[in-house]
Amino acid sequence: MPELPEIETLRRDLCGSILNKQIDLVVVTSPRSIRHHREVSQFVNPLLNGRIEDVLRKGKYLIFVVIKDSATISLVAHMGMSGQLQVVEVGAPLAKHSHIEIGFTDGLRLVFVDPRTFGQMYVDKLGEADVPPSLTKLGPDPLVDPEEILESLKGFRRSSIGVKWLLLDQSKICGIGNMYADEILFRSRIRFDRPGKSLDDLSLENIRNSITMVLGEAILARGSTLKDLQYRDLYGRTGQFQNSHYVYGREGQPCRICSGKIVRIFSKGRSSFFCDICQK
Ligand SMILES: [Zn+2]
Repeated sequence: MPELPEIETLRRDLCGSILNKQIDLVVVTSPRSIRHHREVSQFVNPLLNGRIEDVLRKGKYLIFVVIKDSATISLVAHMGMSGQLQVVEVGAPLAKHSHIEIGFTDGLRLVFVDPRTFGQMYVDKLGEADVPPSLTKLGPDPLVDPEEILESLKGFRRSSIGVKWLLLDQSKICGIGNMYADEILFRSRIRFDRPGKSLDDLSLENIRNSITMVLGEAILARGSTLKDLQYRDLYGRTGQFQNSHYVYGREGQPCRICSGKIVRIFSKGRSSFFCDICQK
């Protein structure tokens, strides 16, 4: 599933390709991809003839700011497990599993492709501080609200559950998923199952700094594309950060720091990768 770095990479590319373009076509071929709405027209009509003013991000959600008739609305997109956005020229053949097509007056098309159909797009108000009402339950975003991250981490101390599950809770901090949680905890030298209440000030600052470092490096490398090749950027290219992972996807391989073997444990429906020697 794409996480903050992959979605941020998409956002930056979208800003370079579709800003100020006017929508003159919206085609939905799978109602499941707009399941937030009862009728297809509730999705299509607000967008038609709108102009893309900006592309924002909160956690793993993309927020397209659309201006139409001097009103501002948002088009929200979540990639789910396998969603991809592609920008294609007019007349180019659409990929298999293309569910939503948004066309612009210059002929360019933005296409939502999603083989497993867990992703979705929907129209919402823009809301205060540019956050659509449907996303107000999300916690601070490490890039958008960096000054709030340490405060959120301090809240981890009220919990006896493992720190990894706290990092995955999107209402505490948004944007981090299974893969980057493992990488962040390795950089912090903290095991995934350390209870939140056991973390001292130094550990929390360590995690905060690791969040900034790992996400920043991953964005520079244009995200991670795993063996399933499911994450692709706007132009179909893969990310490169998987080559710099310390633990995620490296079960049985030597730790890059201590040469011990990377361990994989399956719990709470997810795989956790860590080094038993480096992480305490
Ligand atoms: Zn190690």
